[in-house]
Amino acid sequence: MEQESGLKVVDALDLDPDLCALLRPGALMPGSDGRSHRLPRYFYEVPSREAAREVRLTPHFTLGEFLLVDLKEAARVRDFPRYVPCAVRVLAFYLERLREAVGVAVHVAVNGGYRSPAHRLAARATRHMWGTAADVYRIGPVALRDQSAIETYNRIVEEVSDDLWVMPFGHGPGTADDHIHLDLGYLTLVPREIGEDAGERRGETPRFAFEERRGGDRRGWPRDENLEMLLQRRNPSDQPPDPAD
Ligand SMILES: [Zn+2]
Repeated sequence: MEQESGLKVVDALDLDPDLCALLRPGALMPGSDGRSHRLPRYFYEVPSREAAREVRLTPHFTLGEFLLVDLKEAARVRDFPRYVPCAVRVLAFYLERLREAVGVAVHVAVNGGYRSPAHRLAARATRHMWGTAADVYRIGPVALRDQSAIETYNRIVEEVSDDLWVMPFGHGPGTADDHIHLDLGYLTLVPREIGEDAGERRGETPRFAFEERRGGDRRGWPRDENLEMLLQRRNPSDQPPDPAD
C-alpha cells in the first residue's frame, strides 16, 4: 500500500474554471447560524479510483473512504482526477483514534465524507465541505440507527478527543437518527510545501508540491534543476563522481 507520498497538492485557484467554480476555494460560505466560513483552498489531487483505494491516510482509512458520494454530488466533482481538502488527513488521524478506542471497523457512509459546495445536500456551510466531518453508519457489528446506539457511540467519540464535536440524536435539522456525525470544525490545512506569497492571484507559480519534490512533473511545470542534479548524483552511472563531494 502506498503512503500519501504519491499525492499531488494543488491550489484549487489553479484548477480549470469549471472545477474552480464548483469547489469555490477561499470563498465565504454562509452557515445555518448566520455566520460565514471560508472554504478550503488546498486540495489533494486523486488521479484515479485505484489511487483512492490504495492511498492510506492512516492504517485503517484509505482516501477513498472519504470520497464516497452519490448523484447528489456535481458530476465533474465525481470525475477523476478528484479533489479533497488537505485537512482530510487530520480527520483520518482522529478516526484512527476512534478505531483504536472501539477496536472494530468504523464505516463512513455514502456522502458521509467530503462533499463539495456544489453537492445538492449543501445549501449551507457544513464541515463536510472542509473534509473535516464524517458520518459513520456502522461500527463493527452495530448499525447506528437508534437512540441508544447513537448516544453510546457519541459519548465514545467525545471521550476520544475534545476536538471532536458530535451531532446530537434527533429527527429534526441539526440532529441525526441514522448515523453519527463527528467533525473538527472549519479546519483548513496549508501544506508545508505551499507558499502563500502568491496571494489571491492564480496560476503564477507552480504549487504541485509532491511533483516538485520528485524533480519535475507531467504537466510541464518548470523542473527544479538543483533537485535534478541531486537525483543524478545518486546514480553514479549517470555522472562521474564529483571531486567536490
Ligand atoms: Zn454529517
